[in-house]
Amino acid sequence: DRLTSASAMREDDLVEATIRPQRLAEYLGQPTVREQLGIYIEAARRRSEALDHVLIFGPPGLGKTTLSHVIANELGVNLRSTSGPVLERPGDLAALLTNLQPRDVLFVDEIHRLSPIVEEVLYPALEDFQIDIMIGEGPAARSIKLDLPPFTLIGATTRAGLLTAPLRDRFGIVQRLEFYSPLELTAIVRRAAKILGIACDADGAAEIARRARGTPRIANRLLRRVRDYAEIKGNGTITSDAASAALEMLKVDAEGFDALDRRLMTTIIENFDGGPVGVESLAAAISEERGTIEDVLEPFLIQQGFLVRTARGRMVTSKCWRHFGLAPPRRASA
Ligand code: ADP
Repeated sequence: DRLTSASAMREDDLVEATIRPQRLAEYLGQPTVREQLGIYIEAARRRSEALDHVLIFGPPGLGKTTLSHVIANELGVNLRSTSGPVLERPGDLAALLTNLQPRDVLFVDEIHRLSPIVEEVLYPALEDFQIDIMIGEGPAARSIKLDLPPFTLIGATTRAGLLTAPLRDRFGIVQRLEFYSPLELTAIVRRAAKILGIACDADGAAEIARRARGTPRIANRLLRRVRDYAEIKGNGTITSDAASAALEMLKVDAEGFDALDRRLMTTIIENFDGGPVGVESLAAAISEERGTIEDVLEPFLIQQGFLVRTARGRMVTSKCWRHFGLAPPRRASA
């Protein structure tokens, strides 16, 4: 597993349960999302209504699951959680929906992976709080309508474009999570260090934050790896020096790129003259899945200005050539 993978690893799951923010006030960064949701939540609460359905999208590790817990806590309701691939049959979804209390939140992670037949059942549930389920088989089969309590669906996905249009249209509230700034991540690292009893000074936290790919999950994971280093090689406190030395050892560079990021960029430079190269060819060249490139690797590289997506494929920027100590080629575009 990559140290800088934004996907959750087993050790993250244990720790995340203790450091995951519970309230909107503890959810750091994402000012627009916080402000808007704060208003919608308060309004729904005053009217004693279920909050509109919410779609949250953004790369892994940016806080989609956390935000859905925060929303349920702020609304003062229960959260039931599941994911697109787990809901294989309409009955799986029906069982969840019919067990909800009024105004509860149903969180569906990876909602773009719902099967079409389950999605069909979801539409009337979202619109009219009703489901049609088939009972029996063959000629005796009949469909019955069940009323559901008003509830809030929170769907999470890495890219909004992966959803079918009819599903996307049924969300009244759509929020996009952005990569966090180093300042915001510094606050997140300091908060986690405090909760976990890790000694970490302000510069140490800032150094970890700078190299965490704009992602809280990665920042929190680097914090724990750097702590190990500081305890064994230093005096136990995470300082800026200890953090740089540890991250150097872990092969996370000053931009927060790891070996896989570097392989992706150098492959485009060395094998494809800097691009443009189609994502399938690129995936084959670095032996990674196309989805990994699209969801995990390139969003951050694009946001940082190292990579661009053009109609003809991916291209590295002159900033990228210079990062590897190379002179960018002269050409008309890019
Ligand atoms: P996602 O569902 O988008 O993959 P998570 O919600 O699981 O991401 O977030 C990963 C971890 O990052 C959480 O356990 C939490 O500790 C931390 N985290 C995420 N967002 C924030 C935030 N806004 N403030 C503080 N910590 C956060």
